[in-house]
Amino acid sequence: MGRWTCRRYDTPVQDQPRSLHEDYLRALLFGLQDGIVSTTGVVVGISTGVSDKAIIILAALVAVSVEASSMAAGQYTSEKAVHQMDRTGRHTDSLLLGSLIMFLAYLAGGSFSIVPTVLIDQPLARLVAVASSFVGLFAIGYLKGVLVEGKPLRSAIELFVIGGLATALGLVVGRVLKV
Ligand SMILES: [Zn+2]
Repeated sequence: MGRWTCRRYDTPVQDQPRSLHEDYLRALLFGLQDGIVSTTGVVVGISTGVSDKAIIILAALVAVSVEASSMAAGQYTSEKAVHQMDRTGRHTDSLLLGSLIMFLAYLAGGSFSIVPTVLIDQPLARLVAVASSFVGLFAIGYLKGVLVEGKPLRSAIELFVIGGLATALGLVVGRVLKV
């Protein structure tokens, strides 16, 4: 239980040290991870079937904007439901701030595959996007380990494997359904 641990629900709020609120942390990690995995799937899937760089970038930007907005809306409504059920007063986090964190985290996650797509030409861009996303997943897993569990490497490998499997599944589906 280091300095950076989240607010824990088993101790009264007034006894807890000033720290990150775990609902914000959840939105941050969820948004980053989903933004990386989903956007990489879109970028790689579309670039497999389309060679026009502008179209690939446009599709990726549309996908990441729509998804980030949808995730922010989902964050708001689901967290609001949790707050309405909460009788303990433990949820002192702001719904709007949580949604904003989700939105920005999703965009940041998406940038791991979009930036290489903008800067580099295909088909190299596709490989760099996947590599960049895997590095991103590892880094975010490591960060999560530092913030939450104190076991950064284990957390990094866990997120790398889970996110990597999800990305790989997207790539396989993209290949199979290639038009
Ligand atoms: Zn909350």
